[in-house]
Amino acid sequence: MPNIDVFVIGGGPAGLAAAIAARRKGMKVVVADGDRPPIDKPCGEGLMPDSRSLAEKLGVHLPDSVGYGFRGIRFHGKTQSVAADFSGGVGIGVRRTVLHLALVEAAERAGVEFRWASPVNSFDKINARWIVAADGSGSRARKWAGLDAVKSASRRFAYRQHFAVAPWTNYMEIYWGEGCQVYVTPVDANEVCVALVSRQPGLRLDEALQLHFPALRVRLPLGTETARERGAVTGNVSLRAVTRGNIALLGDASGSVDAIAGEGICLSFRQAEVLAKAMAAGDLSIYERAHPRLAFRPQLMAKTMLQLDRNQLVQSWAMSALAARPWIFRKLLEVHVA
Ligand SMILES: Cc1cc2nc3c(=O)[nH]c(=O)nc-3n(C[C@H](O)[C@H](O)[C@H](O)COP(=O)(O)OP(=O)(O)OC[C@H]3O[C@@H](n4cnc5c(N)ncnc54)[C@H](O)[C@@H]3O)c2cc1C
Repeated sequence: MPNIDVFVIGGGPAGLAAAIAARRKGMKVVVADGDRPPIDKPCGEGLMPDSRSLAEKLGVHLPDSVGYGFRGIRFHGKTQSVAADFSGGVGIGVRRTVLHLALVEAAERAGVEFRWASPVNSFDKINARWIVAADGSGSRARKWAGLDAVKSASRRFAYRQHFAVAPWTNYMEIYWGEGCQVYVTPVDANEVCVALVSRQPGLRLDEALQLHFPALRVRLPLGTETARERGAVTGNVSLRAVTRGNIALLGDASGSVDAIAGEGICLSFRQAEVLAKAMAAGDLSIYERAHPRLAFRPQLMAKTMLQLDRNQLVQSWAMSALAARPWIFRKLLEVHVA
C-alpha cells in the first residue's frame, strides 16, 4: 500500500501547481526536484491577467509590488506599432525566481512535502498512488513512461537576459524582426526582462539587437545587463498521450506552447487543476481527454502569430491592418487571455 498519494517529479510552476491542487483535495503530496529554490529558467516573465488570477486561486498572491504591472500588449513592427489593453485585469512582469518562491511558499502552506536537490533517476523507488512527471520540456520521465511519441512539434531557440533599465512602457512589448522576435517585459521599477526567440540556434540577443532592433539596442545599453544570458528551446509540441497507468505528464513535460503566446505557465496551472480532479476521482482518463482541449486555444494563437514570423509581407500587412483598426487587436487579445 503506497504511503504517498502523489509523487511529483519537478518543482517548477507546473509541479508546484499540481502539488497545491492535489493537497487541496486532501492528498498526501511529495515534490522532488534536482535543484533548490529559487529555481530560475529562461522565460519572458510575463503573466497575463488569466495566469495571475489562476495563481491567486492557488493561494499565490502576486501584488504589483513583487514585479511590475502591465496593462496590455504592444507589437512593434518595422514601421508601425499597435497596442491593446487587457479587458479584464492587469498582467504582471515578475522575475522567475520571485514567482518560484511565491509558489513554493504557497505549497508549503498547503502542506506539500519537498525533496530539494534530489534528482529522480527512475520510477523504481517511487511508492505512490500517482506519479506526476513535471520535469520540463526535456523530460526524462516522459521517456521512462514510454510517452515520448510526438503528434506535432515546431521548435525555436530562445535567449533571455535582464537589463538594469527603468521600464519605458507599461505594456509587454513584442518587437517583430525578420525571423525573430524580442519580448520586453518590465519586471521591476529598475529592470526589464528581454527574451529573443528565433529559428536560428546561433542567433544571440546581442547580435539580434544590433542587426534587427537598433532602436531597442539604444534603450538597452551595453553594460546594463544584470545577469548572464540564458538559452532555452521553445515551440508548439503535442504528444500522442499524456498518461499511462498511474503516471501523468504535466506542464512542458506534457507538450508545450511557443513562447510567443506567453501562456505556458497559465496552461500548466489549468492542467494542474484538472489533473488534481482526475487523481481525486481515481481516473486519469479525465485528464487525458481534457489535455488537448486545454492546449488548443494557446497553441492556435501561437500558430496564428507565427504566421507573421514566416512571412515579412504578411507581417507588415497585418501590422498596418491592426494599426488602422486597433479594435481587432483588442478583440484578439480578449480571446487570447480568455
Ligand atoms: C524564452 C521563453 C519565454 C517564455 N515566456 C513565458 C511567459 O512570458 N509567460 C508564460 O506564462 N510562459 C512563458 N514561457 C513558458 C514557461 O516558461 C513554461 O511553460 C514553464 O516554465 C513550464 O513549467 P514546468 O514546471 O512545466 O517546467 P520547468 O519550469 O522547466 O520546471 C521543471 C522542473 O523540473 C526539475 N527537474 C527536471 N528533471 C528532473 C528530475 N529528473 N528530477 C527532479 N527534478 C527534475 C527542474 O529542476 C525544474 O525545476 C516561456 C518559455 C520560454 C522558453
